Amino acid sequence: MTDVSPAAAAPTSFDSANSAHPAAPVLYETHSHTPLCKHSVGMPDEFAEVAVARGLRGYTITCHCPMEDGYHASCRMAQEQFDEYLRLVRKATATWAGRLDVLLGMESDYVPGCEAYIRRLHQRADFHYILGSVHPQVREYKQLYYKGDPFAYQRLYFTHLAEAAETGLYDCLAHPDLVKNEFPSAWNVERALPFICEALDRIAATGIAMEINTSGVNKAISQMNPGPEILREIAQRGIPMVIGADAHKPGRVADRFEEALGHLKDAGFTHIHLFRERKKQAIAIDIALASLRPAAAAVR
Ligand SMILES: [Zn+2]
Ligand SMILES: [Zn+2]
Repeated sequence: MTDVSPAAAAPTSFDSANSAHPAAPVLYETHSHTPLCKHSVGMPDEFAEVAVARGLRGYTITCHCPMEDGYHASCRMAQEQFDEYLRLVRKATATWAGRLDVLLGMESDYVPGCEAYIRRLHQRADFHYILGSVHPQVREYKQLYYKGDPFAYQRLYFTHLAEAAETGLYDCLAHPDLVKNEFPSAWNVERALPFICEALDRIAATGIAMEINTSGVNKAISQMNPGPEILREIAQRGIPMVIGADAHKPGRVADRFEEALGHLKDAGFTHIHLFRERKKQAIAIDIALASLRPAAAAVR
């Protein structure tokens, strides 16, 4: 594991108001979309502008992967748009070279039985980062797995997260308690925690990372995904964390990163991680915090 520590340029007493000695950028927006996902607005150049204004070092584009048989086709690129996606990201990478590290990633679904297809898909390009997602809000997933019992659905979701980790196909599990927003009145974290911990034990054994996704504050249960109780369990198991805003518009790039880094520190983490060439890099949270520029200064 490489420590991303431009320590010489990042004094520990850095004051973000002191623009004469700005800390070196270290963070990436690791989770973002483009209009190819049909529910995201803004082109990569607009996202990149905000990333630079927020003091980021890079920005990883993670559009939803194409799926077979029309699965959730309303929110993802079609099969025939995959090459267009690669061109879109490569163009942004070239445009911003030397100013911002724009990386090719993808948010790939996990649905039991998808493994062979997803494996082939991941071999079609040199990805830097693959997010693995179980999306319990998707109609097709729900039709397969919701049998009328919200608590059973929640438990199955965490089992599927563990299965996703065990496939070895993904670098990081995205928004790993998203299911709490499906039946928010039926969410009781204490009741679910024993089942979640079983899943986390399996996840920890694989070495996969997990994401703290700041977009959760805009969902039915206004909390980051995962919330604080689960975050503590993740910390106790030493599972590496990645921070992402799941930006579907430029103004959300690095949204609430300071807050999320604070949650991670509270849970006991000292480092966060990001992926480049599908390899994990560690960043000290204090250096990450010092590197960010205020959101107000960013282009909204
Ligand atoms: Zn997602
Ligand atoms: Zn996403």
